[in-house]
Amino acid sequence: MNDIKLALLGSEGAGKSAVLVRFLTKRFIGEYASNANSLYHKRFSIDGRQLNLEVFDPCSQSEESRCILEEPLDWADGFVVVYTISDSTSFLNAKNILAQIKESRRETCKGEVPICLVGNKQDLCHSRQVSEEEGRSLAQENKCLFQEVSAAENYLEISNLFIKLIRHVMEQLKHRGDRRRYSGSKSMAKLINNVFGKRRKSV
Ligand code: GDP
Ligand code: MG
Repeated sequence: MNDIKLALLGSEGAGKSAVLVRFLTKRFIGEYASNANSLYHKRFSIDGRQLNLEVFDPCSQSEESRCILEEPLDWADGFVVVYTISDSTSFLNAKNILAQIKESRRETCKGEVPICLVGNKQDLCHSRQVSEEEGRSLAQENKCLFQEVSAAENYLEISNLFIKLIRHVMEQLKHRGDRRRYSGSKSMAKLINNVFGKRRKSV
């Protein structure tokens, strides 16, 4: 069975948890615990193959960004970088995060790093500060997938983007053979819990 590890990154309040919870449970609950890092586990079937999906949802990257970023950067096979379309600062932050991912993978990852750039809160388009075009071109520059979504209003687009990203990760892992940098997924999960917080969720 394949293990797929994803990490969500982005400004505090961009909607990382909302996007992830929408994908995992199809629901939007409005308020999400924001004071702890969480590691979610889900058995998942894609193209007839069983996967063990692990998703790291950090509590915040806005302050102390470097030290919170480093572990998931090493650990994850793919990334969902979230910004809010009504907050240009979160877009700038997403841009920095993309640069940090590229930087950290320059030596170890020969192919492209699977990333999806997500412009969330599309329902707030009346107070939009980042155009869809800006989002798309940032994604193109960084060779990543791109999607505007509303975690508050839609499930399908979010589900589709995760599926696309997971397919991309599966392709990359095939090319890399089995030379993963971290062999034991369980031990890494434990480590992440120790470093980032105690909460561990199953859905
Ligand atoms: P995180 O810090 O990145 O994990 O952000 P959260 O998922 O906790 O979301 C921050 C706030 O934005 C919460 O109050 C959510 O209810 C709200 N939110 C998240 N996604 C959306 C969305 O698509 N539309 C709107 N209007 N609000 C959202
Ligand atoms: Mg959160």
